[in-house]
Amino acid sequence: MQPKDAGTSADASASANWFRSSSPAMKSLVIVRTAAMAVVFAWVVLLSAAVAVLAQTPIRDGLDRSIKPGDDFFRYANGGWLGTAEIPAGQSSYDTRAIVSEKTNGRVRDLIQEAAASRLPKGSVGQKVGDYFASFMDEDGIEARKLTPLADELALISAITNKASLSAYLGTTLNGEVEGLVSNSDHIFGLWVNQGFEDADHNVVHLWQGGLGLPDRDNYLDSSPKMSELRAKYQTHIAAVLKVASIADSETRAAHVLSLEIRIANTFAPDADAADVFKQNNPWKRADFPVKAPGMEWDAYFKSAGLGGQSDFIIWQPSAVTGVSALVASESIDAWKDYLRFHLFEHYASVLPKAVAAERFAFYGSILSGAQQAPERKELAIAATNGALGQAVGQLYTKRYFPPEAKAKAQVMAGDLITAYRARISNLTWMSPTTKEKADAKLSALEVIVGYPNTWIDYSALDIVRGDAFENMRRAEGFLRLRNLAKLKQAVEPVEWPINPQTPGAVIMFSPNAEFFTAAILQPPYFDSMGDSASNYGSAGAGMAHEISHSFDELGNIYDARGRLGGWWTAEDRDQYHAAAAKLVTQMNTYCPFADICINGKQVLTESIADLTGLLVAHDAYVLSLKGKPDLVIGGLSGEQRFFVAFAQRWRKIQSEAALRKQIATDTHLPGEYRSNSVRNVDDWYKAYDIAPGDKLYLKSEDRVRIW
Ligand SMILES: [Zn+2]
Repeated sequence: MQPKDAGTSADASASANWFRSSSPAMKSLVIVRTAAMAVVFAWVVLLSAAVAVLAQTPIRDGLDRSIKPGDDFFRYANGGWLGTAEIPAGQSSYDTRAIVSEKTNGRVRDLIQEAAASRLPKGSVGQKVGDYFASFMDEDGIEARKLTPLADELALISAITNKASLSAYLGTTLNGEVEGLVSNSDHIFGLWVNQGFEDADHNVVHLWQGGLGLPDRDNYLDSSPKMSELRAKYQTHIAAVLKVASIADSETRAAHVLSLEIRIANTFAPDADAADVFKQNNPWKRADFPVKAPGMEWDAYFKSAGLGGQSDFIIWQPSAVTGVSALVASESIDAWKDYLRFHLFEHYASVLPKAVAAERFAFYGSILSGAQQAPERKELAIAATNGALGQAVGQLYTKRYFPPEAKAKAQVMAGDLITAYRARISNLTWMSPTTKEKADAKLSALEVIVGYPNTWIDYSALDIVRGDAFENMRRAEGFLRLRNLAKLKQAVEPVEWPINPQTPGAVIMFSPNAEFFTAAILQPPYFDSMGDSASNYGSAGAGMAHEISHSFDELGNIYDARGRLGGWWTAEDRDQYHAAAAKLVTQMNTYCPFADICINGKQVLTESIADLTGLLVAHDAYVLSLKGKPDLVIGGLSGEQRFFVAFAQRWRKIQSEAALRKQIATDTHLPGEYRSNSVRNVDDWYKAYDIAPGDKLYLKSEDRVRIW
């Protein structure tokens, strides 16, 4: 399956690599780029300082009532805002997503700093959060320790003398990828404990390719001058790090490290294959390793990885396991040792003396990402705390900003969406009866979890000590790794949260069959638990229903009700679906924001179907929620009108012409204005606003697209 729902540009991956252990938002990008099963997106969330009571609910702001809704619904709903909003200096766009990230980041920053200042009781969640942050901020203490915190690890690397001891050490680097699918640049294989692709009853070990300091395989294999230059700069960076580590002859050694990484890159699957879930589904038994991948001393490797008793594995890219294992035998032990030293420094750069972090920024920040200056220490400390203690920070965040009543209300809305979607499936004309049964079973099994986990991670076994940034980071990693490995002995848990509640976003897990909507995304104007219900359904409801629909569309139909791989649409279903969708392609092809460029309807089809489905399902759910009672008129707008305005306001955005052109050329989502135009296909929008022939957005009934 191809990742969906977020940018996949090279810029994103480069900056993601640099920020990979610091910024949660950037982490999301990494997840999207590498995920086979998780789809992460960031919603647009607007701020509201306080939860408003209904009587005080502001009328949805930013409208331009001088514009006729039927002529330009996007500008009717957003004209006031569009007229005053400005793109911040240095940015190419501005939207509610940017505002919300800033708002949410501010809240999280304050919570963490308050915890650090409060000196809370030892062992409490607040103490761990506060002390983790304070330790990370203690730059003098970090500087004073010099490189001594690495002494034991460096001694272990120095003690490597042969294939067996190298294999054993490599095993210790197999960290649990705690967010599930973060790309691993500093250890040769990535680990994820999750159910099997075809076995929903047991958690197994998923292993995938890793160990490259540059973001992409092509960075190593492309012979163009541009890539050769990048590699030369990377080699200089490796040499600089080895020099900081007081390793003699750093230039020559850096050349060997780079050449080892080039050989590792050669074993990587091509990008399209690496992301193809059907090609990832390669079950191996433990006994297969020495036969299929000779070279590594696998007993030593798995024992030190904590996987000594494990019998079942899924190898996402067999060429990498086979290839890297062979390199363990064929490459010089010294090159491997320098490779490990270099990546050890890279891994802990943020909690080592400034010289290490500065060199890391010089390459990943400046050269790869084009950043002018390093992020403030405080921002890195906040992000590191969020990364190490995500659900601890999440508890502080939700306690203040997303109380149980908000969770309960959002869960009711999710229930209405499921009920509405079920009715839509049963009424479909293009889906065969047997396929409908499967869709219905999948919908019944789907876990939609809102706000925050029903059970939080118990951090009591994790000791966080003020003044010990390095060990705190190491202990937190060890804690999460053990927690991950423990899942191998536990039942498959369909409600394991793959995203922090304080991150504005959502995750679709096809396997297991679950979707997660965070507390940080369920805030005004998307969702206000004390506010206007029509707006909640039109905004957050439509967004949630969009994501739910992906579990049943061309993306999701390859996973069944229990998250097992295997398509359940018939060829006939697919043909009929495409026939129904053709009309939408034609409709979107007519959108031409510039004289020389129009929308490519096929490119944005899957996402646009999800937009329309989300809108229809959310509307049905809104009607259900009224239970036959008429809604209030607020600010002169009926409930129906507020529902559609809230939908159009989801897509509020201003951007430079260059950014818009780039979006049209590369994005699988329509520009906001046209996403808002989904209303043209919804009969109830015509009723709500008395849209009539002659209005510019008017479509004859037979021209309105009906798919789900
Ligand atoms: Zn989508």
